[in-house]
Amino acid sequence: MEKFSLTDIKKMNYSDVYHYIYSNDKCSKQSIANALQMSLPTVTQHLNMLLQEGFIETCGQLQSQIGRKAVAYTITPSARVSIGVEILKNKLTIAVLDLYGHIWFQKICRIPFRDSADYFKEVSTEIRQFILEQEIESKNVLGIAFALQGLVSQDSRNIIYGKILDCTGLSISSFEEHLDYPCRFVHDAECAAMTELWDHPKLSHAVYFSLGYHLGGAIIINGEIQSGRTGRSGTIEHMTLVPGGLPCYCGQMGCMECYCSANALLAGNGDSGNEDLDAFFEAKNAGSREQEDRWVRYLNYLAMAINNLHMVIDSEVILGGHLAPYMNEQDLEYLHARMQKTTAFPEADTFLSLGKRKSSTVATGAALYYIKDFLQNLSGGHDW
Ligand SMILES: [Zn+2]
Repeated sequence: MEKFSLTDIKKMNYSDVYHYIYSNDKCSKQSIANALQMSLPTVTQHLNMLLQEGFIETCGQLQSQIGRKAVAYTITPSARVSIGVEILKNKLTIAVLDLYGHIWFQKICRIPFRDSADYFKEVSTEIRQFILEQEIESKNVLGIAFALQGLVSQDSRNIIYGKILDCTGLSISSFEEHLDYPCRFVHDAECAAMTELWDHPKLSHAVYFSLGYHLGGAIIINGEIQSGRTGRSGTIEHMTLVPGGLPCYCGQMGCMECYCSANALLAGNGDSGNEDLDAFFEAKNAGSREQEDRWVRYLNYLAMAINNLHMVIDSEVILGGHLAPYMNEQDLEYLHARMQKTTAFPEADTFLSLGKRKSSTVATGAALYYIKDFLQNLSGGHDW
């Protein structure tokens, strides 16, 4: 049997009390003691510590069954914040999240990416300025997570494959030297999937399609994103969909990226070219034949891609990313019907759904990495 020291038990109790309040807004001391099977003095001790550290606060009184009113406790969501930054070719989004994963503030800056010292300095200055403007205390910032279209080393410190932004080899120290906070990189598609998991905590297995300007993907098994042996799990964008097809930025031909990304749908490559998603769907919804044809062609390729993945992992398939908010139930029905016609194993019930959050999914997911760490290691920073 595993043995725990007294300190281990104290740490666990402290963390359990916090987590109970975190998941049961407004609770009394007695309800915590009952639920966690702890003595009242033990609960009191941990409540006092949590109050002292500003992690929880009192919020009025609760009516109890025996008539006496009890003090209600709730967590302080702003006791710590995490910052997520989505870096794209032409802009970046900075999002500040509280401990419940709600966006407190966000800002979009039109700073084009370049792999150069002045860019890292400029972006860092923007972030520091934003923290000041929002009057966030430095000590409350858990960290800053930078999400990029690229694969990230296991220690989150380097970009090991960054062809879209041409930044392979980039080190997090480029930002760290200007920012006095913990920093890390995260793969953007995994961030989008992380947001989905946060909003959908019972999700067990899923294939997540990030239908961004560039395609991305993530594999969720047992409620966890699987990065794989070398960080390449879920890189569905480079699976061949059309042998000898269109050229992909990876150097190969016919990758899913060339048929299922938002750029593949838009004329002139939307993230830098003429047509953007708003303009495309405005024209399509106004009845333009040209856009309608392109949309059907896009959905047909997407159905083929989803069906291929569904053969490998028989799970839910979630469609998220920049394009998902423009899709509706009819589009999902079309995809399902198309797959039924073309698959070896038609399924009557759909396994497709759209991502829950409609905007800032990548910046949100990046910030969630620090929040998850904080919640998992709550007792670690305390002097026991
Ligand atoms: Zn490719």
